Amino acid sequence: MDAIRRMMEFIDAAPTAFHAVEQVAKRLEAAGYERLEERAAWTIAPGERYFLTRNRSSLIAFRIPGRGFAPFQIVASHGDSPCFKLKPNADRSAQGLALLNVEKYGGMLMSTWLDRPLSVAGRLVVEGAHGLETRLVDVERDIAIIPNVPIHFNRTANDGVAWNAQVDMLPVIGEEGADILAIVAERAGVEKDSIAGGDLFLYNRDKASLVGTSDEFVSAPRLDDLACAYASLQALLSAKPSNHIDMLCLFDNEEVGSGSKQGAGSTLLIEALRRIALALGAAPQALEAAVAGSFLVSADNAHAVHPNHPEKYDEQNRVRMNGGVVVKSNANQKYTSDGLSAAVFEGICKRAGVPTQRFANRSDVAGGSTLGNILSGHASMNAVDIGLAQLAMHSARETMGARDEAYMIDALKAFYECEIEVMGDGKIDLN
Ligand code: ZN
Repeated sequence: MDAIRRMMEFIDAAPTAFHAVEQVAKRLEAAGYERLEERAAWTIAPGERYFLTRNRSSLIAFRIPGRGFAPFQIVASHGDSPCFKLKPNADRSAQGLALLNVEKYGGMLMSTWLDRPLSVAGRLVVEGAHGLETRLVDVERDIAIIPNVPIHFNRTANDGVAWNAQVDMLPVIGEEGADILAIVAERAGVEKDSIAGGDLFLYNRDKASLVGTSDEFVSAPRLDDLACAYASLQALLSAKPSNHIDMLCLFDNEEVGSGSKQGAGSTLLIEALRRIALALGAAPQALEAAVAGSFLVSADNAHAVHPNHPEKYDEQNRVRMNGGVVVKSNANQKYTSDGLSAAVFEGICKRAGVPTQRFANRSDVAGGSTLGNILSGHASMNAVDIGLAQLAMHSARETMGARDEAYMIDALKAFYECEIEVMGDGKIDLN
């Protein structure tokens, strides 16, 4: 129960990808991880721990074993979630009310954002004494609401509605004259006139809570993918030192295809691997050899079977909440798992006493994809896609099993502590 309570606090404190990275960085620094700057040369030493951020919205942490350069064991998750982003010139008014002009970020269930208290958070760009600075900001007040049209004017609303983000999703933030930038500036402690830009998002103000007659579920915004992000952090911080390089990746922009400079489709991971090899004085070809001997766990939540719609799920490969860690497979490699990598990961879980379950989509359903196959295009290594079973993925509030978070932490800790040795193409030893 401790694990789930702490995860809930983590999620409540991370309304945007920027804040998720800030939360993780804070915990890493408290645990003795040293911050590296991408724009400076890295000095790193065996036995030490480091992390870096890019754009303040993606993060990589790693610890070097006492023996120096070695293969990598990586857990990757994402810190962004579907939401609405403020457009430039966001202020508008209608019918005596102040509204915000917003656009979709990612593929959310739009109706779930209606009629609930929302706030604004993100990153501000402000003019400083010598140039531009960035500040994270979180208004932390119920300042916005996206109102439904009453049933009386839309009698068929319960038969399904086609939502238009340009028309239906603009939040009300007050009476005419309400000024979002003034509120954000005050909260950030800067002059409104000094704001030169920003990346600001609406977020759901609901706090995470336990749900069910025995508190068996947790209901929270952003469970996809902060549940896995938090688990990977706890696993890294609690795992015993190993003989390989333990690494945690938290990527931004997964929900919009990972194609940004800080997303999983960027150079972030491979450059970090290359720079670690160089900084540790690894021999020529040592990096390529290490990558060939490395292992990636892509941790991103999975679809728990919906009790009212079991027909949406493959009969033999349905997964349930509190059933343990989900190993995901897809013939078209939307998930990166293959027979060997799935068996390796399940073997690790079995030894750690963590239950696992297998997920595959119905053959006539496209399903989602994850970071796994995108990362494989940049740093190609054995990889498996896993996650925790949850309901209502991409709703403003999602639901997962309360016992599953501890399973995920235990599984990832066991993964970091296991010495995975790639003995050849198609032969892997677990020590
Ligand atoms: Zn996800």
